[in-house]
Amino acid sequence: MQPHELSLSPTELVDHAMAHGVTLRIEHARRILVDAWAPASRTPLRETVAARTRASVAALLRSERVAIVERAVDPGDGFVKYLLQAPDGAEFEAVRIPLHRPGRFTVCLSSQVGCAMRCDFCATGRLGLTRNLEAWEILSSFLAIRDEAPGRVTGAVFQGQGEPLHNYDEVIRAAQRLRDPCGGAISGDAITISTVGLVPQIRRFSAERLPFRLIVSLTTTDLEVRRRLLPVVSRFDLTDLADAIRCYQANKGGRVTIAWVLISGINTAAAQVDRLAELFAGVPIIVNLIDVNDARDGGYARADDTERGQLLDRLAAAGIPFVRRYSGGAARHAACGMLAARRMATRA
Ligand code: SF4
Repeated sequence: MQPHELSLSPTELVDHAMAHGVTLRIEHARRILVDAWAPASRTPLRETVAARTRASVAALLRSERVAIVERAVDPGDGFVKYLLQAPDGAEFEAVRIPLHRPGRFTVCLSSQVGCAMRCDFCATGRLGLTRNLEAWEILSSFLAIRDEAPGRVTGAVFQGQGEPLHNYDEVIRAAQRLRDPCGGAISGDAITISTVGLVPQIRRFSAERLPFRLIVSLTTTDLEVRRRLLPVVSRFDLTDLADAIRCYQANKGGRVTIAWVLISGINTAAAQVDRLAELFAGVPIIVNLIDVNDARDGGYARADDTERGQLLDRLAAAGIPFVRRYSGGAARHAACGMLAARRMATRA
């Protein structure tokens, strides 16, 4: 199958063209890719690549895009949740998130249609895995959202549907293209990849010394709770996971973000923090606390103020910094997986 125009670097485009008998200069490859990434509304610049060369190269590439099917705007916090559709009909989500600086946004991207990790508190996990997204599909969702943002999109986080490191090659390719000056032109530090804790892939990510940030969604240090909440990744030993994160931090530097989905009666006990401190002794971490968002009747409940206070006090006592992240869109039942899950339920 032909490669997609959004997935290639300028060098790869030159090589692909050459392999098919088309001579292409690197500066022309850059120009062609800059144009492929430009908003449809952009006024064309002076033509610098001969029309015949453009046509020859275009014939070697795919250029289809994903479509926006639905938007759910949260008037309270400005989050916009998008339902997108690939040409084969597969649906997945992305979210436009306003940053503190007015007129600046980041985009939360999906990496798979559904997810194989089966995290017990997650609507996407209950859908199961349909398929991986290709890099171009991820990038096309980014462009669709960027092009209608009322300001600049300056970051991307792979924390939508799917486990990004379970689709390692396509996600890393997408991240590389987002960082490329001829692509998304986003700083590597503003591109974050989340994982629920796939140890071999974290080790690979670390060994490849990729310029992106990693967030590890740990959520519990209790083995019994881990087996229930995170059934797939609970096969990895917590000490091995902590060691992989330690290696990543040693290579990358800075603090490692550990995400913790707060659930009432499940993971707010002091003993969980004590184990966290033990596992990550000597590793600079910051804990990102996220309220669970389970819309099912009888589903997991958010921690109350007492539970939350107990956890925060213990983190403070252990000298572990933390931040609280508001789960945007929750008020409209539009958190992770909800749009896609709702549509699947409607069709059933
Ligand atoms: S929380 Fe993330 S990794 Fe777990 S099932 Fe949901 S999408 Fe997959």
